[in-house]
Amino acid sequence: MKRLEDLILTKIIATIGPACDEPGLLARLIEEGARIIRINFSHGSFDDFQRSYDAIRQASKLADIPVAILGDLCGPKIRIGKVHEAKPFALAVGDYVELTRKEMLCRRYDDTGMSVLSTNYPAVIDDVQPGHRVMINDGAIHMLVVDRVFADDDQDHRLVCRVTQGGLVSDRKGINLPDTDISAPSLTEYDKQCATWATEREFDALALSFVRRAEDVKQLRGFLKRITPPGVLRPPIVAKIEKPQALSDLDEICAQSEAVMVARGDLGVEMDLAEVPMIQKRVIKVAHDHGRPVFVATQMFQSMIEDPSPTRAEVSDVANAVFEGADGLMLSGETAVGAYPKFAVATMARIARKTEAQLALARDDQARLPKKLRLSRYRTAALARGVSVVAGDLHARFIVMWSERGGGARYLSQSRMDIPIIAATSSEQGLRQMNLLFGVVPVLMPRPENAQAFIDQTDRMLLDSGAAQPGEPVVVVLGEPIGSPGVTNEIRLHYVGDVCKLPDGPVEA
Ligand code: PGA
Ligand code: MN
Repeated sequence: MKRLEDLILTKIIATIGPACDEPGLLARLIEEGARIIRINFSHGSFDDFQRSYDAIRQASKLADIPVAILGDLCGPKIRIGKVHEAKPFALAVGDYVELTRKEMLCRRYDDTGMSVLSTNYPAVIDDVQPGHRVMINDGAIHMLVVDRVFADDDQDHRLVCRVTQGGLVSDRKGINLPDTDISAPSLTEYDKQCATWATEREFDALALSFVRRAEDVKQLRGFLKRITPPGVLRPPIVAKIEKPQALSDLDEICAQSEAVMVARGDLGVEMDLAEVPMIQKRVIKVAHDHGRPVFVATQMFQSMIEDPSPTRAEVSDVANAVFEGADGLMLSGETAVGAYPKFAVATMARIARKTEAQLALARDDQARLPKKLRLSRYRTAALARGVSVVAGDLHARFIVMWSERGGGARYLSQSRMDIPIIAATSSEQGLRQMNLLFGVVPVLMPRPENAQAFIDQTDRMLLDSGAAQPGEPVVVVLGEPIGSPGVTNEIRLHYVGDVCKLPDGPVEA
């Protein structure tokens, strides 16, 4: 474990891409604070994903810091086809565009002012009604469906649209259909392929895009259960909230997922942009009621794709997300294709650390425990509540616990205690998965013989790393035999090095 005193509680997700996939550079991103690296299955081939995967595991070794790999499944993301001669073309207000079921290149017919766009999911043509909006390229282009043409041959079914806001069309740009109930399955064949590939490599989490209802998450979980070999931990599911339909089923989606993400990119296209900040607050609240970590994503430092420092508005956005209770923040293009990936992570970490310090002062004690935890009669939940009170009274600087598979760490993380939870495990998978949890610092350790051996081991770690001074109070959470499931049952008040430092100086405990 390194630089314990520099810890941040907020989890930074960095998306891997050509700008940061060299292991040496990626290791720097991890040193600066990235704890989850996202592989986005929307871009690239399995060869590319394998290279990213290898680079992440190598970078984690170089930095000597465990990180979680998050695979991002595309879900029913609808895109236009490739563009004729790969030449982007412009659509102007008033232009007519045909959306076709045919497999063909997208192109503009200059003589008629009519353009044709194909899609990766032709059946969607049958779902869209006249009057619905069709948005292309992250909402840059707006079109309105004015007519639906049925032909004898299914392949000739098409929609006629009129452009109401113009823009540039290029290869495989995304289509958003905010008014349409899309019949596409939530888990596509490609998603299943990606999920299988990811599970074989013990990915530490899988995000599902365009979740519409809790059932979508259940389906993925069922699939993962079937394909995860015995003895291997199933990757937790992060439900991406980016469709209006998901907001109607938010409570149940949070109940069914292990974590959620406010995916503001697509959300801002599918919903009125002006509503997105309030939706963000609502998703954080509901996720926390269920004790789920929640990640805020997209355009947090958009300007840093080109500039070395963020805008004032972006700095505020990041700080406010932390203040609102986000467990983690995501960088997308900023790290994947931007010019300053390391700066982006470092800047985010700096803002998060400053804001966390304020958060600790401002927090209302009653508000911090999630509803689920307050109502739960589970032993671990009760223990977590107790730990939070004891740590507060003692002004402890660390919680130390044994959490073999991360379950206990999850409960403590939900209590949002504003101090790091050092969670030891002997399981590599448990270690990496705990990176999803706010405030949790996972450490790998051989399983100690007994509680005293564990305390001695963690004392040495705290003292050797310079993180703690002899006599500082630490709250230790464990159960014996250490590492057995379901035994966590004990809170010990411990002073580092076993001396109790009273205000007048150290005395033997
Ligand atoms: P994406 O998801 O980057 O996979 O689209 C995040 C978002 O939509 O905000
Ligand atoms: Mn998205």
